[in-house]
Amino acid sequence: MKNPQEIFPGAELSPAGFFTLTGLSRFPGFVHGFTRKVPDAGKLQVAGRKPVFLHQVHGHRIVAVEKSAAGLSPEGITEDKRVPGDALITDVPGVILAIRVADCLPVVFLAPEKGVVGIAHAGWRGTQARIAEKLIALGRERYRLVPEDLWVGLGPAIGPCCYPVGPEVREAFRVDFSDADDYITLALDGSLRLDLIQANQSQLRAAGVPADQIFPISLCTFCRDDHFYSARREGGKGGRQVAWVGMIPVSVAEKKIL
Ligand SMILES: [Zn+2]
Repeated sequence: MKNPQEIFPGAELSPAGFFTLTGLSRFPGFVHGFTRKVPDAGKLQVAGRKPVFLHQVHGHRIVAVEKSAAGLSPEGITEDKRVPGDALITDVPGVILAIRVADCLPVVFLAPEKGVVGIAHAGWRGTQARIAEKLIALGRERYRLVPEDLWVGLGPAIGPCCYPVGPEVREAFRVDFSDADDYITLALDGSLRLDLIQANQSQLRAAGVPADQIFPISLCTFCRDDHFYSARREGGKGGRQVAWVGMIPVSVAEKKIL
């Protein structure tokens, strides 16, 4: 890191080198984080446990992790049993849910009163397919969550400063979202720019999550080469960040979690 004194509004950089959102750190027993540019982030362990990953496909399938999930062990779901999907939800304590991202937006969900956590991989396709809204709907159906239960964090993603999209993307959003023109805007160079954070904030609020329970980190993965991999900057050849969320006993959470 070039500037160890840098302040990150709403976020903290842990001594172990991952970001957390201050707004989500107030709940004992709940952990979350976003790695920086580290090799082998996929091998990270949280509180001594391997997280559960999916085979991500830029879709909107949400996988609920149950105690009896196939292949689920204290070490997570084994690689060959990974199922396709782009979001995870669970009420099982000790299960760490994780996704890999490099420009797409990681969205983490905590329902502290109900003991449920979730995570979603929201690029433009997932956002347009309402993956955050669908995760909330599944939480309601399966765990009786209401949107007011949720505290949501939006991690590092490519910002509108660096994310040109084609007119077909704007058209796809305009068909389904009346406010699409608020977050797909014309830049000075004449290109259209998508703001993934704003699009997802808007989707979350429309789904009923109180605005003051939504916390964006607002760091652009493309601009911040000092912190993050960026699929666009590196032509898809670079690494990936990992975002995670889970519930673990407070006695464990208070110790070093990585
Ligand atoms: Zn940028």
